Amino acid sequence: MSTSLVLVINCGSSSIKFAVIDPQFGDEVLTGQAERLFSEGAEIAFKQNGEKTRVSLPNAGHDEALVAVVEFIQQQPGLGESIKAVGHRVVHGGEFFRESMLITDEVADKIGQCNHLAPLHNPANLAGIETARKVFPDLPHTAVFDTAFHQSMPAKSYIYPLPYKLYEENAVRRYGFHGTSYRYVCVQAATMLKRPLEDSAMVIAHLGNGASVCAVKNGESMETSMGMTPNEGIVHGTRSGSIDPSIHEYLAKQLDMNIDQINDMLWKESGLLGISGLSNDCRTIEEAAEEGHERSQLALEIYSYRLARTIASMVPALGRLDGVVFTGGIGENSDVIRAETLRQLQFLGIDVDAARNKATIRGGSGEITTDASPVKALVVPTNEELMIAQDAVRFVEAAQPVGAE
Ligand code: AMP
Repeated sequence: MSTSLVLVINCGSSSIKFAVIDPQFGDEVLTGQAERLFSEGAEIAFKQNGEKTRVSLPNAGHDEALVAVVEFIQQQPGLGESIKAVGHRVVHGGEFFRESMLITDEVADKIGQCNHLAPLHNPANLAGIETARKVFPDLPHTAVFDTAFHQSMPAKSYIYPLPYKLYEENAVRRYGFHGTSYRYVCVQAATMLKRPLEDSAMVIAHLGNGASVCAVKNGESMETSMGMTPNEGIVHGTRSGSIDPSIHEYLAKQLDMNIDQINDMLWKESGLLGISGLSNDCRTIEEAAEEGHERSQLALEIYSYRLARTIASMVPALGRLDGVVFTGGIGENSDVIRAETLRQLQFLGIDVDAARNKATIRGGSGEITTDASPVKALVVPTNEELMIAQDAVRFVEAAQPVGAE
């Protein structure tokens, strides 16, 4: 076991994901998840050397759960002493942060000032930071922001065509998310494309339960499909993605829905789930579609079409296109979505190799276009935890901010 490990913490509103990682090779020494916090059924599952341990913690909140994580770590011989830094995933850094930051009181205060931009996520991220700083007072804590990578976007990408004072006075603008994933994937993809990162142009599609697309030029985000919130853009598992903004008014007047009901519908009952009426899970939908379930077939069709349309719309931000890259649970595993999306992008010079596409699943990475294809398509498994660990450990070595390569 390496003697320089990082504890990576991802605090959600009722869950905490954590991992102890070797930042050099990405080996996970310990992983786990606290779930159903603030309820009777709160519990933590630890996974180490393939073995799972469950600890029940009725009604535990972030504080109690993190203390239990630390106790578990300290019971493992040599593990506690090997942890040299803590890395925290933070969803929203607003316009304050364009890179990962060593957490000081001032940085924590600014993260709090972004709470209104991500009310479900940032307060939970901050709770995790505050507890972890108490239980690990001697270690450097680093905040790694989902939004930071997109701070390189030009104003034409991030300003909405709304009254400008909404941006100036109310922070209404496009921020983008999944930045940590894009920062990791673009480096791997440039190597696979045999191009220096500083001279590369790619569109990356991070397709998970939440999904987005990003135009990355020379290692910097130029444009992305998510906006002020992680709903804008392509179809998600349960979120609608972009729709006509005046649908809100129609629903309010015709169906007497209030803003919370409309919001719930757009965030929790739409997307793949809304269209299929069956599930938000792409695997389930693919299986049902195969068996002839028409609304699942339609869900896959709309998903791929909107994805292809959005990928193509990213090209003006790049000026040229070296490759299209798939990542995230769906991007890494669904050869069906990839094939259907890329079929509609043939006009860009993407010539899919059906056999390579079918064979690249379950954590595999590689090229899925033919050798002669002018524009390449790649699959690159993402590793946000490794990125967070690497940012965090750099603060142990040099006390300076780190950010986009
Ligand atoms: P993530 O949020 O990145 O974990 O991705 C979750 C999504 O990946 C879910 O919609 C899963 O159904 C999807 N997914 C995982 N494995 C597969 C697979 N073999 N085929 C299709 N979709 C998959």
